[in-house]
Order: sequence, then structure tokens, then C-alpha cells
Amino acid sequence: RMTSTNDIRRSFLDFFEGEGHAPVPSSPLVPHNDPTLMFVNAGMVPFKNVFTGLETRDYSTATSSQKCVRAGGKHNDLDNVGYTARHHTFFEMLGNFSFGDYFKERAIELAWQLITREWGINPDRLTATVYHDDDQAFDLWRKISGLPENRIIRIPTADNFWSMGDTGPCGPCSEIFYDHGDHIPGGPPGSPDEDGDRFVEIWNLVFMQFDQRDGEKTELPRPSIDTGMGLERIAAVLQGTHDNYEIDLFKALIAESAELTGTAPDGEAAASHRVISDHLRSASFLIADGVLPANEGRGYVLRRIMRRAMRHAHILGAKDPLMHRLVPELVAEMGGAFPELVRAQPLVEETLHHEEIRFRRTLSNGLKLLDGAVSGMTEGETLAGETAFKLYDTYGFPYDLTEDALRARGLGIDREGFDVAMAEQKAAARAAWKGSGDAASETVWFDIAEQHGGTEFVGYSTDEADGQV
Ligand code: ATP
Ligand code: MG
Ligand code: MG
Ligand code: MG
Repeated sequence: RMTSTNDIRRSFLDFFEGEGHAPVPSSPLVPHNDPTLMFVNAGMVPFKNVFTGLETRDYSTATSSQKCVRAGGKHNDLDNVGYTARHHTFFEMLGNFSFGDYFKERAIELAWQLITREWGINPDRLTATVYHDDDQAFDLWRKISGLPENRIIRIPTADNFWSMGDTGPCGPCSEIFYDHGDHIPGGPPGSPDEDGDRFVEIWNLVFMQFDQRDGEKTELPRPSIDTGMGLERIAAVLQGTHDNYEIDLFKALIAESAELTGTAPDGEAAASHRVISDHLRSASFLIADGVLPANEGRGYVLRRIMRRAMRHAHILGAKDPLMHRLVPELVAEMGGAFPELVRAQPLVEETLHHEEIRFRRTLSNGLKLLDGAVSGMTEGETLAGETAFKLYDTYGFPYDLTEDALRARGLGIDREGFDVAMAEQKAAARAAWKGSGDAASETVWFDIAEQHGGTEFVGYSTDEADGQV
């Protein structure tokens, strides 16, 4: 009998609750009081202040299934969606946490017990990694799991050393990988082809062992545990597939988008269905948590996600706006676990619908321009930056949407040319600006706008056309 994704979430939380952990509901995707972070991207984020000791709670161990978005900032998996079987922009991170309560030994014991006994995963399929100098973790894995030494791999890179920032708690970590079998391309962790879908990282155990100040590490008096397991990845394992997009939840979403577009769920249309179903989740949950499409910041990340999905709806031949019609299926699948989604359903539908109407006004003309520009180009060539800028400015194509459209054909973009065109337009806007005559405040205003657009491509503050031309 197949275990549903909803059952697996429940089973994880029940297991840890049974082991004395306080169940904590997911926090919203927009971090509370944390301007350094675009979206919550890990289960530990809502507990940051508990780990540092700034805040105390009436429990010392906890468990949660945290909504995460990795589509901007330090963790950005947007470009993986549609290309790997294991990455989403929105996913749930299951976790158990110890705030100065248990440490490495119990963390490994609990993890091993849940996956091999409770869920019955075959240990022969499992590999663990440890930080190269963490002999303690290595020995504990040997003792607790009985895994042979060659399947406890020492990794010397930052992948296995976690830190919150330059100061504060940090420590080695241990990742658990599941081997989906040699019919899937990819090598074991630490090997040159580790990036394939064969050995999939299902669970990451972080051992917060040190406190870092001015580059010095001292042992924390009460070390802590933070773990994160991708719900969709473990669902794939327990449902006997290597592919996250083949779990019950995604099957249902993809069946719906196939039905509504009159296309097959697999074959040529598969990649588009994956992008659509993934982006439907991130867009809907972001809107439900109060993010609205905008030309800057979080709202621009949302807009990029929505428009990418909308290009794929167009590829599938959707004659009318599609995304909002998929929301009822999403609510049917996930509304039970996330009542905020049910409450926000009308807003989510309206926001998606409105954006798609707006973008469809310029989408097909933009795609025609793009097709014309790339006809005759051969693999490895780059699209002129000016053309990418025109698509952005006149047709409302986020840069990464154009990049994604070209990637399928092996083409790139002249990024420098794009930046030059953008800078020229800004200079022109600045020159044309008569404003209040208060030169000082105007300069400040433009500088702020540029700083926001400059460091990371999350959109430009003032002058991105949204297709309303
Ligand atoms: P990967 O190396 O596969 O990108 P990660 O090391 O970046 O994963 P962590 O930051 O350790 O991931 O997050 C904890 C867990 O969350 C991972 O072990 C994985 O199961 C899951 N996870 C991470 N990123 C994603 C994603 N984009 N989509 C789905 N699940 C994810
Ligand atoms: Mg990653
Ligand atoms: Mg990893
Ligand atoms: Mg990891």
C-alpha cells in the first residue's frame, strides 16, 4: 500500500512527538524580523534566536514541517527545477531540533531508527557523510548503523560544515543519501559526478558544536541539533520512485495541468508540467503568506516564478490563463496541512489570474521577437544583451525567464550587454527626471534604487516594465 505524502509528514511528526519533541507549526515563508533573508529556506530559521540563546521557549526539543522557498538569495534552486528530479523552489523541510538537549549520538540514533525501522528503508541503500575531521560522528555512525566504513564518507568541504554566519553557532554536519540504483545517472557523495539523481540527499543533520567569534571557534557549553529532511524526497523513496515529480502530490497536480491543457502528462510536455506544478506551489504559498507580485524585492521573485510558469503554460498551448485553475487541486492536496492556503484561496486565484492576463498581452509577441533573434544561432552562442533588455523592458520578460528559454536550446545571453542597456536606461531616466528640484534627495533616491538592483538579480526597483505597454 502506498503511503501518501500527507501520511509521511504526519508519520515524521508523530515519531518525534512520541520521542518527546514539541510539535511546532510551520512559520510563514516571509521571515519575521529578519531583513537579511528573502524567504524562509530551512526548518531552523524560525528557531534561530533559540539556538543563539536570545530567546527561550518552554520546550528544549521540537519538530516541524517547515514551508521553504529557495528561489533567491544564498540558496537558489530555481534553475534546477525542470532539470533535476529532486529540486523544487517550494518544498517542505521536516525537522527535529534540540536546543541544548541531546546531541550527536541521539540525533543519529533517532534518524536511523525512523528511516530503517519505522519506515523500513533498506540500509544497503544508505550512505552517510561526515565532516572530514569529525571522528566522533564517524564512530557513532559505525556503532549505531553498522554501515560499512566505505559508506560513511568523510567530506572536507563546506557542504559538511554549517554556520549561521561569520559569528554565532556552527559545526560539522552529516548528510544521509539514498541510492536509487544504477539505472539512474550519478555518483556517490564526494565523487566527481555526485550531482546526478542517483544518490539523493534525503536528510541533513547539523551538529551545532561551536561558537564562532572573530574567527575563533570555542566549544558550545550546550551543543544543539538541527536537522532537515525534504518531505518530497523521502516521499519519493517511500513511494518507490527516484523522481520527486512522480509522488502522489505532484502526480495529481500534473494530471490536472495535463487535463486543462489537453496535453499528455509525460513525454515532450513533461518538463513544462514540472515547472508549472512546482511554481504553482511556490507562487500560491507565497501569496497566501502575503507576498504580492511587484517590481522589486520579494514581490519580484514571485513575479519571476509566476511568469516562468506562464511561459510554460503558453508552450503547452494554453489558450486561456491556466495557473489559477490549478489552485483547487493544490488546495485539495495541501489545504488539510496548511489551512492558510484554504483561507487565501480566493486571493491566490485572483492574483494568479490577473498576472497571467497581464503577461499574456506581451508574452507571445515577446516570444516571437525571441524566436526571430535566435533563428540561425547555433549552440554555445549568446543572445545580444540589448535584445534581452528589450524583452525585459518592453515585454516584461524577467532576465532569468529569457535565460531559461534559451537554455533549452543551448544558448546563453550577453549579460554584460544587458547590464549596459539597463544602466543606459537608468541614466536616461535620471536625466529626464525633473522632480521637485531637490537634487540631494533625488540622488539619494536613485542610489537606493540602484543598490537594490545591483548586488543580486532580484529585479530593479523603479523601472521594470511589466508588460503594460
Ligand atoms: P542538495 O545538496 O540536494 O541541493 P542541500 O544540501 O542544499 O540539498 P539542505 O540545505 O541540507 O539541502 O536542506 C535539508 C534537506 O532539504 C535536504 O537534505 C533535502 O532533503 C531537502 N532539500 C534541499 N533543497 C531542496 C529543494 N530545492 N527541493 C526539495 N528538497 C530540498
Ligand atoms: Mg542545495
Ligand atoms: Mg547537499
Ligand atoms: Mg545538505
